[in-house]
Amino acid sequence: MMNKKKVYIETYGCQMNFYDTEILGGVLTKSGKYEITEEPEGSDFILLNTCSVRENAETTIYNRLMHLKSYKKSNKNLIVGLAGCMAERLRQEVFNKSDLVKVVIGPDEYRRATEILDNSLAGEVGIAVRLSRVETYEDIEPLRTKGISAWIAIMRGCNHFCTYCVVPYTRGRERSRSLESIISEVQSLNDGGFKEVTLLGQNVNSYLDEETRTDFPNLLRKVAEIFPDMRIRYVTSHPLDMSDDLIQAMSEFDNICNYIHLPFQSGSDRILNEMNRNYNRTHYLERICKIKEKLVDFALSTDIIAGFPTETEEDHQATLSLMEEVGFDGAFMFKYSPREGTKAFKMEDDIPEEIKIRRLNEIIDLQNKIARQKNEKEIGKSYEVLTEGPSKKKKTEWMGRTLHNKVVIFDNTKRNALVGDKVIVKITRANSATLFGDVED
Ligand code: SF4
Repeated sequence: MMNKKKVYIETYGCQMNFYDTEILGGVLTKSGKYEITEEPEGSDFILLNTCSVRENAETTIYNRLMHLKSYKKSNKNLIVGLAGCMAERLRQEVFNKSDLVKVVIGPDEYRRATEILDNSLAGEVGIAVRLSRVETYEDIEPLRTKGISAWIAIMRGCNHFCTYCVVPYTRGRERSRSLESIISEVQSLNDGGFKEVTLLGQNVNSYLDEETRTDFPNLLRKVAEIFPDMRIRYVTSHPLDMSDDLIQAMSEFDNICNYIHLPFQSGSDRILNEMNRNYNRTHYLERICKIKEKLVDFALSTDIIAGFPTETEEDHQATLSLMEEVGFDGAFMFKYSPREGTKAFKMEDDIPEEIKIRRLNEIIDLQNKIARQKNEKEIGKSYEVLTEGPSKKKKTEWMGRTLHNKVVIFDNTKRNALVGDKVIVKITRANSATLFGDVED
């Protein structure tokens, strides 16, 4: 029997990258020539599945590459490669920036991963970075570790071209998987004991199965109806495409989680326009009103950028006031960093670093305050919690999530719930990130 080569994949960035690592693992193991290993030590390949969204993310990869030189010293035959958005963005340039990297594979080329690795074993430098208008990997079985929660990419790419974002350049245009392939993947997850599935895409609201004309709200309805015991989540939505019908679909099924991640980025219409977000503050708030009107016990999270070019103090205050008005349960908050190749890169990055940091800190402080207040309002309520396992701090304390995606910690000594069990927990205390409670009989 042929000795399989060991591949260690280290993943950075967004959930789509983590899903792609499972696709890459699926492609390589199916070939019968490669196996995925959990440890870099003793592996034949180390692949970094990279992110390009912020400059910081790329700096992390360069630092990691420096560190990987020590592995190369102890294993002369080790081959190091880059996959993901940074591979796509830098392409050939990667080889000039690091003499360690011999393989570069972009997000639409994972089908060719076996061939590229084979060639690199024969001494070739391998590069595959073509973007595709059709690739969805719908026939590839992802290599998943066992668990209760899984992700399924239902669409890939983005057509929005926000001026600060590299995604349309690194992941190409929008395309959707067939409804049939999604249903059959959820079926196999259901059969495999998974309890929760998250439908994933850069902009899931744009999902459309051309053949059956199934749009995203109807996809959600179908999955929720066929798999009533599974929790169904989704990320990420664009405020422009957050339709009434989508909110309606969420309100129709108990197993569609009442959690929406709806990035607003800035509270200022002028900055939203500069960002090419194609909606204004009024539209965003009107969508929030609709959500509040239709859904009960729901949670909202968002993305916010501080210090976009030309952002004034007044624009920044508009962001803070929108946060107050909506009351987000969670937020991913960043200071602006220019990305080469984007439209905003041509604008002057004119907000001094110390002002960006101060504005970001104000956003973070306000968000922590709002999240704590919102979580405190949960005290006294009871929620169904899907148990995920022991908490980090104490073995007797277990953690799980509510339907609206709040993390709940509870004492598991009396109930002895198992991973994947659903328990009812009454909330007794809260901080800005976590709810704590007691299991009800
Ligand atoms: S919607 Fe905008 S921020 Fe989101 S992936 Fe598309 S271009 Fe990037």
